[in-house]
Amino acid sequence: MVDRQRVVIVGSGFAGFECARKLSRIVAKAGRTDVEIVLVSPTDYMLYTPLLPDVAGGLIDPRFVAIPLLNALPKVQLRIGAVTAVDLDRRTLRVDDGHSEDRELSWDRLVLTPGSVTRLFDIPGLAEHANGLKSVAEALYLREQLLRQLELADQEDDEAVRRARRTVVVVGASYAGTELVAQLKALADTYADRRGIDPRKFRFLLLDTADQVMPEVGEQLGDKVLEVLRGRGIDIRLGTTLKELSPGRVLLTDGTEVATHTVAWVTGVEGAPLLKTLGLELQKGRLVVDADLSVPGRRDVFAGGDAAAVPDLTKPGQITPPTAQHASRQGKALARNVAASLGIGATRDYRHRDMGLVVDLGPGFAVANPLGVQLSGRFAKAVARGYHVFAVPRGVNRWAVSLAYATNLVTPRPLALLGLVSREEAGFARSEGIDS
Ligand SMILES: Cc1cc2nc3c(=O)[nH]c(=O)nc-3n(C[C@H](O)[C@H](O)[C@H](O)COP(=O)(O)OP(=O)(O)OC[C@H]3O[C@@H](n4cnc5c(N)ncnc54)[C@H](O)[C@@H]3O)c2cc1C
Repeated sequence: MVDRQRVVIVGSGFAGFECARKLSRIVAKAGRTDVEIVLVSPTDYMLYTPLLPDVAGGLIDPRFVAIPLLNALPKVQLRIGAVTAVDLDRRTLRVDDGHSEDRELSWDRLVLTPGSVTRLFDIPGLAEHANGLKSVAEALYLREQLLRQLELADQEDDEAVRRARRTVVVVGASYAGTELVAQLKALADTYADRRGIDPRKFRFLLLDTADQVMPEVGEQLGDKVLEVLRGRGIDIRLGTTLKELSPGRVLLTDGTEVATHTVAWVTGVEGAPLLKTLGLELQKGRLVVDADLSVPGRRDVFAGGDAAAVPDLTKPGQITPPTAQHASRQGKALARNVAASLGIGATRDYRHRDMGLVVDLGPGFAVANPLGVQLSGRFAKAVARGYHVFAVPRGVNRWAVSLAYATNLVTPRPLALLGLVSREEAGFARSEGIDS
């Protein structure tokens, strides 16, 4: 009898999804029936996170950015649950499905791709009164919270209370936070238009400790973004962050007190909590791996994506940044190298030169720097949308996203409140698994 080899992949984000997809193809092509691929994930979908700001802005439906694993990965076994512990000596791990006792699963090759979670700081009230943007629940909650507050404001007689309900604070002016504030503002503008309210009555603040917005796209494009967003009435305060949060109020480090019920915290990420429990070496909270994505000294354990500190062979001495661009390519490299460890093909080091970033900033404006070429305005918008439609990893989802964009060209964003996500479900603990 042939010994079966079980490859367990932890996490169904960009890296885990692409690894499972490519590995199942490689194994099938090699005619190897002795290799079993198991994907462990708390969700039964892969989330295309770059479009979460569009979900929060009510531009696209959350199902469009959720790639169903059962449809997309028919040859991969799914285990819905979170890995709570890994025993590297016994080659086992434990899975919590939230309903029964933790179950043990053995593995012959382990691929660690649990990604990252929002980085929280020791700011009083932050975990209780702010929301992140890493999950469907968080994106939907922000959309609903904004619409709910705008509706409540309209029924309010007290001017101060009305003003607080019409105020939104977003912290983090890198690409995700900047896209979010632009999309929320566009949603509020649509609301104002339908209700016949002056949109200048809504107050949007974007804060960051840095002295530039979106350092990822360089100073020139960053300045352009600053000019356009300020022109839309967004109050951008650089060198400023939150000092304290309490119900209905935030205090900024510049001493300003702002009354608000909607605070988004999008300041960056750190490695998934599981990584700290493994007893393996970490660099900046990410798992140290060799250039072939294996954990040093372990030819049976691999890691990639936001969870791993992957040497950037194109920039000696640096590690690859936590982006979808790298994570999905590392997923494919993981598949190749895991297959090689099982005797199919040869191992290759991971090497990828950054292709730049596209940042969609609401109506008629985007910036992009594909291959170092600086673009802004409507052409950049077409490039950004085209890129995302192309990059969504499933045809049906691609089609749905394209239709949503096309629909938005001729009709305003839908403003209905579904009220499906509670504050608790959208909190950092429930939606991202962060203990705070
Ligand atoms: C709002 C936003 C916008 C972004 N925009 C861009 C962009 O435009 N371009 C770009 O390149 N990048 C972008 N990024 C970054 C990009 O999303 C990440 O770099 C990418 O998701 C990393 O992929 P990953 O597979 O490593 O991790 P993730 O996508 O985070 O996936 C990790 C998976 O592991 C699961 N998991 C976690 N812990 C466990 C556990 N214990 N057991 C089992 N499963 C677990 C998680 O549930 C998740 O499904 C954006 C991120 C955000 C939040």
